[in-house]
Amino acid sequence: MTVDPKKLRIQIHPAAILREKAEPVDPTEDVLAVADRMVKMMRGADGIGLAATQVGLRWRLFVCDVPADPDEPSPGPGEPRVSTEGPEVYINPEVVSTEGEPDLYEEGCLSLPGVRGDVIRPPAVTMRAIGLDGQPFETRAGGLLARCLQHELDHLDGILILDRMTQAARTKVRSAVRSLER
Ligand code: ZN
Repeated sequence: MTVDPKKLRIQIHPAAILREKAEPVDPTEDVLAVADRMVKMMRGADGIGLAATQVGLRWRLFVCDVPADPDEPSPGPGEPRVSTEGPEVYINPEVVSTEGEPDLYEEGCLSLPGVRGDVIRPPAVTMRAIGLDGQPFETRAGGLLARCLQHELDHLDGILILDRMTQAARTKVRSAVRSLER
């Protein structure tokens, strides 16, 4: 499948592709060119993550870039990392394990402009994927990075933050969601 990366656009809810399950991909040059373009699109939109389904492709691929928060102490030895050092590419990502009691954290989404709300997720996750170099890697994430990785993986299964919001958050965003759906 040949894709012109320049023609990709961020898909906004209720685009049907956002509800589709993506298929595994091989790290071919085409796929890597798309990943590269997705990093630029993510940055252009001031996002910290972007999944292939969000740009109209049913590929199991996402990118993320979570800068360190200067107000937060960096994780100590043995603690999961909470940020990235520049953009990262996850091809065919899978959850290996999660840690801790699920908790609340406010999330937004480039496909749901104007919608932000508390989402329930485990606070730490270990994920396995194939990287830009075509090699498998495993990473253990906490903090905002754990949020981001789980949020992006959800996109590859057609799941949006709307599905994981608390009832209170869902009520609060109802009119913003309706205006996107009109
Ligand atoms: Zn999203």
